[in-house]
Amino acid sequence: MEKVETTINGAEVTAKQNSTPHQFANAIDVADDSLPGFLLRSLPMPELRKDPIVGRWVIIATDRAKRPTGPRNEPQNPGGEACPFCEGHEGDTPHEILSYRDRNTRPNERGWRVRVVPNKFPALQVEGVLHKRGEGIYDMMNGIGAHEVIVECPFHEITLANLSEDNIREVLWVYRDRLVDLKKDPRLVYGMVFKNVGAAAGASIEHTHSQLIVTPIVPISVWEEMSGAMDFFNYRGRCIYCDMIHQEIMTEKRIILDTPHFAVLAPYASRFPFETWVVPKHHNSHFENIQKTEVDELGTVLKTILLKIETALDKPSYNYIIHTSPFDTQALPHYHWHLEIIPRLTRVAGFEWGTGFYINSVPPEQAAAFLRETSVDLSAPARR
Ligand code: ZN
Ligand code: ZN
Repeated sequence: MEKVETTINGAEVTAKQNSTPHQFANAIDVADDSLPGFLLRSLPMPELRKDPIVGRWVIIATDRAKRPTGPRNEPQNPGGEACPFCEGHEGDTPHEILSYRDRNTRPNERGWRVRVVPNKFPALQVEGVLHKRGEGIYDMMNGIGAHEVIVECPFHEITLANLSEDNIREVLWVYRDRLVDLKKDPRLVYGMVFKNVGAAAGASIEHTHSQLIVTPIVPISVWEEMSGAMDFFNYRGRCIYCDMIHQEIMTEKRIILDTPHFAVLAPYASRFPFETWVVPKHHNSHFENIQKTEVDELGTVLKTILLKIETALDKPSYNYIIHTSPFDTQALPHYHWHLEIIPRLTRVAGFEWGTGFYINSVPPEQAAAFLRETSVDLSAPARR
């Protein structure tokens, strides 16, 4: 079998068997790569093109289509020897950008606990000068940015929820460290951390990992949230997220977990069944400004809510996405970072695509009650 360099869900690997395509979901929707094998003329680098009507940016990245394709929506599940994310396979990924590792161990060797590597065929690439230009009525820029993979543990575990709370805390610190580092780059404006779990959520490799895509523009979904929150702030003089937490805790109907520093809730206008938001109680517009006490608690909160979702819904595919403020803003009084978890229980179909309306068959009050009452065991399974 031919040996080919490729990427699997964000990381460079040497494919030794049928590699599968993958899709990113939600926030940064990278196209499904399982294209028919027609000849693609490569662009020298990715491009960002703006839809002149609604202002939505699209990433055109031809390199991503060069990856070998396989059956649609089939996750690659190599364990042990075949998994490029397992300890001992550091040579199967590009050189690491960051790792938390044991003393007296060296980069790209064993001894790491959490590891960040770049994507070989990224949706955006970090080298080059940012050129913005117009072509008649159209606006475009070259695809400067960053696309990184955070491998969350060295052993072959498929769900973050099974990691120890300390391990999850280290993953959260890595998110923060990467955002702090990337925001020093004046070309880059927005960093989005997200996670795809399961085939229906766009994951093509099962070893637990997250991704970070950093863009030279603010994604439209965040822009819409920020401008809505700004309108509320201008009208009421308060942060809508702070008000929402206050009201939800008072009424309790949609609260799933209430801890000293976090509220976990089913949002009032949930788009999807069991949509869940994790919102810090202390107002903070930027995730990277998170405090140690919050990280300590969030490790437990995230493990708990993911275990609840896995238990209640029989290990569904899901995405989570951290919504935070753009790099080039100071602390904002009107915006409030949060983490959105979207179980992929239903498919978005024609009506949703056509209208932007979502039809949700599970009232958030019922979803919250169900998750609230689902009991879970936080002890991590034994390893090795
Ligand atoms: Zn693995
Ligand atoms: Zn707030």
